[in-house]
Amino acid sequence: MEHFKDFRHTNFKVGDIQLFKNISKDELLKIKQQLDYCPVVTAKSGEIVLDSQSSGACLYVVLSGILALTSNTSKRQLENSTIQYFAGECVGEISVLDEEASTATIAAVTDAQLLLIDSVIMWRLIDDSNGVARNLLQLLSFRIRTTNAQLRNRQKVGEFYRQLSMVDGLTGLHNRSWLNTQLPGLIENAHATQTELSIVMVDLDHFKKFNDQHGHVMGDEALQVAAKVVSAGLRPSDFAARYGGEEMIIILPNTSKESALIVAERLCDRIRHAQVFKDSDQALPHITASLGLATLTEGQDGLAVISSADAALYRAKERGRNQVAL
Ligand code: GH3
Ligand code: MG
Ligand code: MG
Repeated sequence: MEHFKDFRHTNFKVGDIQLFKNISKDELLKIKQQLDYCPVVTAKSGEIVLDSQSSGACLYVVLSGILALTSNTSKRQLENSTIQYFAGECVGEISVLDEEASTATIAAVTDAQLLLIDSVIMWRLIDDSNGVARNLLQLLSFRIRTTNAQLRNRQKVGEFYRQLSMVDGLTGLHNRSWLNTQLPGLIENAHATQTELSIVMVDLDHFKKFNDQHGHVMGDEALQVAAKVVSAGLRPSDFAARYGGEEMIIILPNTSKESALIVAERLCDRIRHAQVFKDSDQALPHITASLGLATLTEGQDGLAVISSADAALYRAKERGRNQVAL
């Protein structure tokens, strides 16, 4: 940044600086005297004004032009930054107060004139004027609120994407990564509370043939229908996830083998009666599914109980499909 002149050589009014708003004339006069010899610099568009490399704590008052908070100094990024500082506003006040380097990068969006107030003068202004101290407190609480709102927003966006990454795009069921993160906890909880937990693996029958005969798009449609039947047939405390291509896994916490068998039979029946429509009046031949059921035994982990359910599913296929096996 280029040294330009002292504040006394500009025609900027002290009262137009936000930090010095609502301050009596007498006090303003004293402030003006303190500021007269503070340097005024020019920053060129795109130039970094303040970052963690900046030496010496200094408050920057924008006299003309625009500054912006940014993660990089490309012109587009700068212009699109939602946090901008206009004439009369200041940046860097926190660094002045705690004498730590800035954690934010602030750069000039347009050519800008900046008044630099070093920490010695800033503290003197605070000591001399209640008005300055009050304005500074107000500015700091505004900054805290803004930062909190940003954090909350970022958390919300993060949570949105996290949720999205846990949902299967075709069926709307949970996906495999959801299963990987949630199943261990559910199993652990079942062991810890000595409650029963059952797992049902569901695999559509001859689904390759269904795709071959009716096309992949209708195959997708059938999968969605089956997924809907499954999720509609479960209690809120149960979970269904898409395990692989045309396989689903159902987790039934707090459910004995006998109860799980009733659930599995009901789902098997509903899938065999579900209709997949090619268009509004043309239904395709019914799909069926085979289901394998296993109930968690002492010391078993997620992998072990899934593999028991898989073995049961294999038996259901062997016995002619369209049925439940233990
Ligand atoms: P089985 O009764 O022994 O399970 O026979 P199958 O044909 O269902 O079994 P296999 O595992 O050999 O084939 C599964 C087929 O499911 C393969 C693939 O064509 C189909 N499939 C898997 N995922 C999808 C999908 O997302 N959409 C569609 N349309 N088809 C899928
Ligand atoms: Mg399969
Ligand atoms: Mg299959």
